[in-house]
Amino acid sequence: MNSSFPALALIFSGPSGVGKSSVCQRLFELMPALHFSLSCTTRAPRPGETAGLSYHFLTRERFAAQLAAGEFLEHAQVHGEYYGTLFSEVRPYLERGQDVILDIDVQGARQILANVRGTDLERRFISVFLLPPSLEVLEQRLRGRGSESEKQIRERLQRGREEMGCWSEYDYVMISNEVHESARQLQAIFTAARRRCSILPENFHV
Ligand code: 5GP
Repeated sequence: MNSSFPALALIFSGPSGVGKSSVCQRLFELMPALHFSLSCTTRAPRPGETAGLSYHFLTRERFAAQLAAGEFLEHAQVHGEYYGTLFSEVRPYLERGQDVILDIDVQGARQILANVRGTDLERRFISVFLLPPSLEVLEQRLRGRGSESEKQIRERLQRGREEMGCWSEYDYVMISNEVHESARQLQAIFTAARRRCSILPENFHV
């Protein structure tokens, strides 16, 4: 008898500063077995960020080499820097029955969904877009972070506005008000999406 529900990979997007990292941190308290897909980036670490915990911080040369070797499930250029998701951060975990969350931008989300179409991974992906309550709140949050220059803040806001126009491409949308509530909503999405009859394996029996 096989009555186990499949592990899922949840693509979590939203404009820079909306609070995705805080929601993820809270979600780990609710779902300790969840794997956070650690992205690669060529940008410099921010104060408080740790290599191997926040990102794999790579040189541009190293990033290009891993890209050429076909190691990325997706990659994108964001704010002039490269970001990418390694296959090794997703597939082995799903195979082990562990859920995965990916904090990636809209371009990356589109690429993943295109890359897995028609493969065994297709049904394992779900996508959630986190919107701020308003643009004013997003701006306050970005400024409160204190890690970017005025120019960078303006660029992130502009890009954020563009990204927010894409929310309807996602399976689910959430509005970020309170971190604990957003984390509970994400957990509920995992719980419900895992039980879709359409994604259960052929050998699923009760
Ligand atoms: P930040 O520099 O603020 O950490 O991230 C900037 C943007 O890059 C965010 O919108 C974030 O979602 C996106 N991002 C982070 N990791 C990845 C990744 O692996 N792939 C893609 N496509 N975007 C990413």
